[in-house]
Amino acid sequence: MNPHWNGQFSCFNLVAKTDEKVRTVVQVGELCIGGDQFVVMAGPCAVESEQQLITTAEAIAAAGARILRGGAFKPRSSPYSFQGLGLVGLKLLDKARRATGLAIVTEVMSPEDVGLIAEYADIMQVGTRSMQNYALLEALGKCGRPVLLKRGMTSTLEEVIAAVPVLKAVSHLPVIVDPSHAAGLRSLVPVLARAAVVVDADGLLVEVHPCPDKALSDGVQSLTFTDFQEMMDDLRPYIAMRSCARGVRPHLLSRVEVT
Ligand code: MN
Repeated sequence: MNPHWNGQFSCFNLVAKTDEKVRTVVQVGELCIGGDQFVVMAGPCAVESEQQLITTAEAIAAAGARILRGGAFKPRSSPYSFQGLGLVGLKLLDKARRATGLAIVTEVMSPEDVGLIAEYADIMQVGTRSMQNYALLEALGKCGRPVLLKRGMTSTLEEVIAAVPVLKAVSHLPVIVDPSHAAGLRSLVPVLARAAVVVDADGLLVEVHPCPDKALSDGVQSLTFTDFQEMMDDLRPYIAMRSCARGVRPHLLSRVEVT
């Protein structure tokens, strides 16, 4: 594979796909991201309460998700919007991890918070507004945790390096699709999730809330537990086809019994 795809990606040698470096598999506990498994990350936009988070974690684990998402530090367009629970939210994420065995992905907004969040998160998420916060990116590079870098809303193809097949063609890094923020509307999320599987993304990041109408952020695009279960059931044959195309047995999205 030519790492200088279309002549536009010459400055990304470290992440370029080459004959020697075809893919990077990110290990999170026993979970492999970027391998043959399709990994689903799901949970509320923001951590709001213990009950909200634990019930969501149990529901998504039962439906086959492997990683719990939830913002404790929230970048909001309005200063009057809910800004997140901060450290209390991180402690709730840790509690949910211990209760369900799910790994945790949560957003970090400032370089000063990197050390604290790295104590709680299995994966550090860089939000779309922070994609070009270079001080934050430098601090994350030293934190020892995997980083989920979200595409900046106005970033160019070269800045994101954008379209899933292009990313997969030029880079060895895993690509995760966020159908919730891409759609902005609950009803459009499942079909975009299906598309993500078909274009060979490595996983999904999906917003799920026990009662989306009462969510403190992004309720309009959040799935209910039932919606999420139905989406996961819908994805099953597509994931099986993806596995077939790769010549591996589909071992994904098997439902887990949560007691
Ligand atoms: Mn959100």
